[in-house]
Amino acid sequence: MKNKIWLSSPHMGGTEQKYVMEAFDTNWVAPLGPNVNEFEKGLENYLGVNNKIAALSSGTAAIHLALILAGVQRDDLVLCQSFTFSATANPIAYLGAIPIFIDSEAETWNMCPNLLEEAIKDQIRKGKKPKAMIVVHLYGMPAKMNKIKKIANEFKIVLIEDAAEALGSTYKDQKCGTFGSFGILSFNGNKIITASSGGALICKDAITKNKAVFLATQARDEAPHYQHSEIGYNYRMSNIIAGIGRGQLEILDARIVARRANFDFYKKSLIEVEALQFLDEPAGFYANRWLTCMLTPSFEVREKIRLALEVENIESRPLWKPMHQQPVFKRYPAYINGVSDNLFERGLCLPSGSNLMNKDLLKVVNVLKKVKVKI
Ligand SMILES: *Cc1c(COP(=O)(O)O)cnc(C)c1O
Repeated sequence: MKNKIWLSSPHMGGTEQKYVMEAFDTNWVAPLGPNVNEFEKGLENYLGVNNKIAALSSGTAAIHLALILAGVQRDDLVLCQSFTFSATANPIAYLGAIPIFIDSEAETWNMCPNLLEEAIKDQIRKGKKPKAMIVVHLYGMPAKMNKIKKIANEFKIVLIEDAAEALGSTYKDQKCGTFGSFGILSFNGNKIITASSGGALICKDAITKNKAVFLATQARDEAPHYQHSEIGYNYRMSNIIAGIGRGQLEILDARIVARRANFDFYKKSLIEVEALQFLDEPAGFYANRWLTCMLTPSFEVREKIRLALEVENIESRPLWKPMHQQPVFKRYPAYINGVSDNLFERGLCLPSGSNLMNKDLLKVVNVLKKVKVKI
């Protein structure tokens, strides 16, 4: 365990424990308190929005609440990027709604605007307009937000942005998570900053944020006794977790610099290995490079590399298996062009933590070069 090189491990900045201690010292050991308020303010400040962010127990909870606030109900249609982690799609199923999976385009690996439009028109022709769409900024690379937002506006479909992997990424200088009616963030253990767990919902206004907090705290009506007119959830972030988040937020920019440096190092070190490819940022796109992803020539080579890294105690991981290929989601409609199937087959995520040492990165590169020789 000790010498293992991890894919993406927590990297504390130093002030986290101070805020957690403050919570203990003042007995705010609860799902509310000064750390929660300050963490929300810090996020709002960072993303350039005002009084619109609710700190929650997870990114998954944030997606669930976004769908509820978008009015999604049983049997409603929700368009969803297929190339993602299952947490993007699971909340659609919690509501008994129907996910419609949309494949990616090759420039960003995110939702293909052409397929999105085709799917909407096709579903309208079949008799039902989708209620919401969830676009993902996967691995920290922004999706093509100009086109996607235009389609959302044209067809009046609620746009939800899953920015769980993309805190700090920008598209045309605007932060990911702030384009849609809703954006969601995650502070789970392997994200670019972590509070050990947690998430946040970015809303379009303060009224919606207050409604989100109301739902996240069991939907209690205003009364001296406990009264409920709506189904509520226990989704609020605790003041202890928020203390860790506060400390992490202070060093977020340095974490982005470090992750981007990892990407640059891998790309530069492997430039002569033509068979290994990396995804460049199109003009106007700025990725936080949460994970460095590499494309190999084939499934066989990808597996060979993954296993060679494993022997050296280096963690790597195939790219996300698309949702339309997942046994649990196979029966749902999907608009597919082969892009994400191909990425899943050939792609590998490399160790990408902001706490990796130069010698760790060199070790990874040396394994990759050696495997290549043997291919
Ligand atoms: C991590 C992640 C989530 C879920 O966040 P949690 O805080 O773990 O619930 C959702 N979507 C994507 C793309 C993620 O990577």
